[in-house]
Amino acid sequence: MKQTMRVLISGASIAGPALAYWLHRYGFDVTIIERAPALRTGGYGVDIRGAAITVLRRMGILDQVRAADTHMTGVYFVNSKGKIEGQISEASLGNQQGLDIEIMRDDLSNILYDLTKDTIKYIWGDSITDIHETEAGAEVQFIHGKSQTFDLVIGADGLHSNVRTLTFGDEAQFKRTLGCYISIFTLENYLNLDHRQLFYTMPGKTVGMYSAHDNAEARGMFLFQSDSLKYDRYDAESQKKIVENAFVGHMGWETSHLLKTMKEATDFYFDEICQIHMPTWSKGRIALVGDAAYGPSPLSGQGSSLALVGAYVLAGELQAAHGDCARAFVAYEQEMRKFVEKNQKIGLMAAGSMIEKSKIKIFLRNLMLRVPTLMAVQFKMISKMIAKAANGIELKDY
Ligand SMILES: Cc1cc2nc3c(=O)[nH]c(=O)nc-3n(C[C@H](O)[C@H](O)[C@H](O)COP(=O)(O)OP(=O)(O)OC[C@H]3O[C@@H](n4cnc5c(N)ncnc54)[C@H](O)[C@@H]3O)c2cc1C
Repeated sequence: MKQTMRVLISGASIAGPALAYWLHRYGFDVTIIERAPALRTGGYGVDIRGAAITVLRRMGILDQVRAADTHMTGVYFVNSKGKIEGQISEASLGNQQGLDIEIMRDDLSNILYDLTKDTIKYIWGDSITDIHETEAGAEVQFIHGKSQTFDLVIGADGLHSNVRTLTFGDEAQFKRTLGCYISIFTLENYLNLDHRQLFYTMPGKTVGMYSAHDNAEARGMFLFQSDSLKYDRYDAESQKKIVENAFVGHMGWETSHLLKTMKEATDFYFDEICQIHMPTWSKGRIALVGDAAYGPSPLSGQGSSLALVGAYVLAGELQAAHGDCARAFVAYEQEMRKFVEKNQKIGLMAAGSMIEKSKIKIFLRNLMLRVPTLMAVQFKMISKMIAKAANGIELKDY
């Protein structure tokens, strides 16, 4: 690199700060712009496995992330009266004990922010409105800030990426909807759950609650099947109404209490369960990383691992190409494409397992959960597939 390259990253969750860390380490001058006024809280456990563990080790934060493991013991399925009808242990869910990590999304985001906050310039509460490529670079306009020119602009702004829309057009071209919506929010652990998740499943709907932060609090979850919904992505109140309407007439177990607490929640998260599939992740001086480029769906738990590995590879290829973005972006895609495809397949499987379509399927699942040998065979196969996908990339030393 002849002179320090200026990079603007949109999005300060997982992919953005991870990419910023590596780019700064390689000598790039990095700014992150985040639409929210501060680091966003909320979400539930995300899984860190395989190559993503290696990335965390190389970032020097593996022990810190491991120390924040949720230590969940498993999922318990309850009926409308709260009676446990079946159980799946955490190991059976594909988590290799002692190797994989499950961490609350916001804990991981906090660790990455702490790692980068002194070296990266963070701009809060602003968003890019236009990117125009000139000979000199990418000229960027903002809602609030003055326009600036950067050498590169990277979209790490999630499933509904703003940079993606500005660069590649409407998200409908890339979105593969899985036909459900999810909401997650923090609440008091009033059921005194001890490192466990409770799921109450009805045809096409699941209500969940699980302990968080060593049982100090809990997270509630509503998941429901639905045709495509039109709503304002920035209007939490109207989204809460959508969730409430989806559960009218289905008030078994703790549903009505959870709906009430959801309405008061300040970290309410709501999104469509969908994946992002794009033929290419870059154009000119602009590229995408994490969910913005290849989101595997919020149900998969795999998004953070993909984002960590994607950030490592993208920064590494930019370093290896001495800032020649055309070369680096091609190499980034070559390295990542197969790995992404394998992990998105796992994402589809995970989505399918958290919602049941009919009463008979719920009955059969509960029946199967009572036959440990049958379940052991099935879960062993699933664990093997997940481990293969999570390790499906050979990380270069950049
Ligand atoms: C609040 C929240 C809760 C989540 N909960 C879960 C969960 O429970 N389980 C799960 O598997 N996944 C969850 N996810 C998604 C998960 O974080 C990602 O799949 C994964 O970590 C990859 O992260 P990412 O950084 O690519 O995208 P994301 O984590 O989605 O982060 C995108 C970031 O970009 C910001 N952003 C959006 N638009 C703009 C804009 N116009 N300008 C600037 N910044 C913008 C967002 O505010 C966010 O901080 C959640 C994401 C968020 C933001």
